Amino acid sequence: MFVQKFTFNPVEVNTYLLWDETLECVIVDPGCSNSSEERELKDFIEENKLQPVRLLNTHGHFDHVMGNEFVERTWGLKSEIHQEDVFFIENASASSARFGISMENPPLPGRYIEEGELITFGSTKLQVIFVPGHAPGHVAFYCEDDKILIGGDILFRGSVGRTDLPRGNHEELIAGIKEKLMILDPQIKVYCGHGSETTIGAELEQNPFLR
Ligand SMILES: [Zn+2]
Ligand SMILES: [Zn+2]
Repeated sequence: MFVQKFTFNPVEVNTYLLWDETLECVIVDPGCSNSSEERELKDFIEENKLQPVRLLNTHGHFDHVMGNEFVERTWGLKSEIHQEDVFFIENASASSARFGISMENPPLPGRYIEEGELITFGSTKLQVIFVPGHAPGHVAFYCEDDKILIGGDILFRGSVGRTDLPRGNHEELIAGIKEKLMILDPQIKVYCGHGSETTIGAELEQNPFLR
């Protein structure tokens, strides 16, 4: 599986494109907030002859769903998200205004992501790992074959997701990270919702929140 990272919008969210040799791709957390960011995403997809087949959201915070409408309008893809986080999509405009950012509420999702399900595209399988706490419906996408985890805002390099936003829960987040992520192969590369990549092993050794 190939991974391309884009960093979009004033909150600097990481948007990921995942694809394989079939050239089918999925778009995870499109954060495009203006026409130049939309063009950057679209140009990359067209230049690499990729075919977007799914739109996945790790969770519903406004910075991660800002580009859902663009992706739906451009490639006809409805978003897929855990049901517990639809609340944020329905309130994205109000939440973003609190950060001084203006946006419409994104379109409602087309399907709910379930804990433990397998999400497929091309010849690739992504396992859904449910780790609430930063957001009540937060999921990570895990590709066992390629040892890659798309983690959203659950875990960062040397840190964890903030839990002071509505419906956050710090204890639940830490327990979920320890029980569901830290048991995975230490070599797994983690692509985070903000900032740079890390590995499960590096966080096991160094992350002060997981002591
Ligand atoms: Zn978030
Ligand atoms: Zn975020």
